Amino acid sequence: MFLSERIKTIKPSPTLEINATSASMRQSGVDVINFGVGEPDFDTPEHIRSEAVRAIEAGYTRYTAVGGIPELKDAIIEKFRRDNNLSYKPEQVMVSCGGKHVLYNLAQATLNPGDEVIIPTPYWVSYPPIVHLAGGRPVIIKTKEADDFKLSPDALEEAITSRTRFLILNSPSNPTGSVYSRSELEALAEVILRHDVCVVSDEIYEKIIFDGTPFFSIAQVSEEAKAKTFVVNGLSKAYAMTGWRIGYVAGDREVIAGMTKVQSQSTSNPNSIAQQAAIEALNGPQDSVLTMVRAFDRRRKYIVGRLNAIPGIHCPMPAGAFYVFPNFSHYFKETHAGTKIKGSADLCEYLLREAHVALVPGIAFGDDNFIRFSYAMGLDAIKEGIDRIEEALEKLVGP
Ligand SMILES: *Cc1c(COP(=O)(O)O)cnc(C)c1O
Repeated sequence: MFLSERIKTIKPSPTLEINATSASMRQSGVDVINFGVGEPDFDTPEHIRSEAVRAIEAGYTRYTAVGGIPELKDAIIEKFRRDNNLSYKPEQVMVSCGGKHVLYNLAQATLNPGDEVIIPTPYWVSYPPIVHLAGGRPVIIKTKEADDFKLSPDALEEAITSRTRFLILNSPSNPTGSVYSRSELEALAEVILRHDVCVVSDEIYEKIIFDGTPFFSIAQVSEEAKAKTFVVNGLSKAYAMTGWRIGYVAGDREVIAGMTKVQSQSTSNPNSIAQQAAIEALNGPQDSVLTMVRAFDRRRKYIVGRLNAIPGIHCPMPAGAFYVFPNFSHYFKETHAGTKIKGSADLCEYLLREAHVALVPGIAFGDDNFIRFSYAMGLDAIKEGIDRIEEALEKLVGP
């Protein structure tokens, strides 16, 4: 058959692919420990699930307003006011089928062929393809481990051209867990405001943050910064609601209207039942979020300790999200049974084959020296997984 040139350049999501490989190995009886998952291992809290059942019984089973029902938009506006001290009008808010879909709609609604979008590494795997699919050009800027993987104002300034439309920021970050501070964001906003550039601030991990690290959005820097920012958030990570597919955005009303048009001609609206449940998630009790964050915190400390005890591995303590991103380049150039390990993809393949441990190679996030571990699993599984990795690494022979 035939495929568009556009689609031929796009690879499927590497993280979803690893999940699929790991699932099929499990199905054939292999006991795989999957550090590849990008979703909380908890069930959606009970009060949110009950609300969905109630919504079905009450007949909330029809098409809704394209950009989300007014009650959910109100709950989102209230969330921004309460958590971020940001005020928005309903016309500035839109609900889509997940945060990923928000980003897709945003790119489709704003980018012309050749428009540039600045994406710092290590980046979330879907940013470059979403930009590509809209005809835009991802401009990748390397950040350094020594800078906590954060973009500096100078590097940003240097990357901006007359074609730059957006900078994508993700704090707390997937895959590094880094969290930008208020002063770092103020410095970036200063550069943004000097040029005609907007910011996509992906804040999906806002609630998963440790050690009392304050969360700050670049939209909070000033009214001017807020006017140039599209805050992207969603329910997947904070409320363990990945399968419900609810994400949202707040920003410029004209762009939101454009995004609503894109959505009206594609998905029509987000799921009606999930929208009702989302109101409960945002307005209801928040203690389950804290319970999950406490569990993530225990796992975070454990996995960082274990990884740093492996010879040649350096693993920083992340301030947010549920990933660690250690440097494994020490093990590149080593061999096993005659096969040379040239980079993160080879090492992950070796560890999957030899140790039955699934991991995402750093190359998928734009930095080949690293490997991403999700620790969204019980402590026993984390322990067993790291034990296996240690054992498999010991079998490697140096060059
Ligand atoms: C999980 C994730 C999202 C969005 O997930 P949805 O399930 O589509 O809401 C967005 N950005 C990052 C960085 C993520 O890790």
